Amino acid sequence: MSDVILSSSPARETAQASLTIDLGALAANWALLAARVAPAECGAVVKADAYGIGIEAAVPALAKVGCKTFFVAHASEGVRVRTTAPQATIYVLNGLPHDSVATLLEHNLRPVLGSMENVGLWQNVPGMRACALHVDTGMNRLGLAPSDVAGALGKNIAIDLLMTHFVSSEEDEDPLNDIQIARFASIRAQAPHARTSLANSSGLFLPQKPYGDLVRPGYALYGGNPTPGLANPMRAVVSLEAPILQVRSIEGGDKVGYNAQWTAKRRTRLATIGIGYADGLPRAAMATDMRSGGEAMVAGVRCPFAGRVSMDLTVIDVTDVPEAALHGASAQLLCEDITVDDLGLRSATIGYEILTRLGARYHRQYVGG
Ligand SMILES: *Cc1c(COP(=O)(O)O)cnc(C)c1O
Repeated sequence: MSDVILSSSPARETAQASLTIDLGALAANWALLAARVAPAECGAVVKADAYGIGIEAAVPALAKVGCKTFFVAHASEGVRVRTTAPQATIYVLNGLPHDSVATLLEHNLRPVLGSMENVGLWQNVPGMRACALHVDTGMNRLGLAPSDVAGALGKNIAIDLLMTHFVSSEEDEDPLNDIQIARFASIRAQAPHARTSLANSSGLFLPQKPYGDLVRPGYALYGGNPTPGLANPMRAVVSLEAPILQVRSIEGGDKVGYNAQWTAKRRTRLATIGIGYADGLPRAAMATDMRSGGEAMVAGVRCPFAGRVSMDLTVIDVTDVPEAALHGASAQLLCEDITVDDLGLRSATIGYEILTRLGARYHRQYVGG
């Protein structure tokens, strides 16, 4: 196990909460998905700084286990991937905004063309440079309308990948999945030589096995559950820990935090921990008298949040954990027992947003690289 500490992250003794990113688990997750879809190729979606864990750490770890194709959202992210993976094939999902063409050419990035405007721009690039064509089969977000595909295929562009994106692949009984697969099949018939790509993380767990030639997992690589409601087949990649700064006891009826929204039902011991919404812990994880909120693990015991999440601090109920009073004790916000999906659910959001909002103030530690 080698520990890499990025210089941009604050040192452990100067930060409060600390984030540990297990690159071994990331690599194992990719290998699991790659084996599942073989002989189709398994790529990796590393947009949004590799879902918050860091492009510069994630990409080499993935390349080392055999990942050759990466997807990003922005050209700037593609440039960072190119620096760490000189041989990789890199697709830029958001197409060709502004004047990104020169950047794409300079760094050998392939745009995912998602509109006829994109097609027109790329057609003017000399040398028939490779690109992907994104066809919209139901999302109505990015991608060509199926009726425009014939027109795009008639242009002088080198389409090496034809792709679409699922609307509800995490719901395997949603009839939209079959509808999108059928729409894509009829479009694909017009471009029989392009490679195909349909599946995101959940898509590659659909019973229809819509693997095409290349799958595009993101969330599952980072430990998110691609099969909500079923056991998570992926390993956790991110763990998050915050120090206990202070422990105090209050009486039943006493209130906690801003605007006194949480009332103790009994004599209660509270721990104040050094993490808040400015670190990316959602304020919506607050606990009030009306609703329960987030949870933290202290010495193996689940401790509910008490009151509102503040900017830099959160209070948890440690009545049942004598160890919480020990000097140096800490609380785990993400761990084996509390997944990114759990925290998302308790924060009225999804694990994806938990990951991509991981804050800049954490001490970051990479292990298993
Ligand atoms: C983000 C994204 C993915 C990855 O989706 P996950 O659900 O994170 O696996 C795949 N394809 C496209 C087009 C995306 O935008």
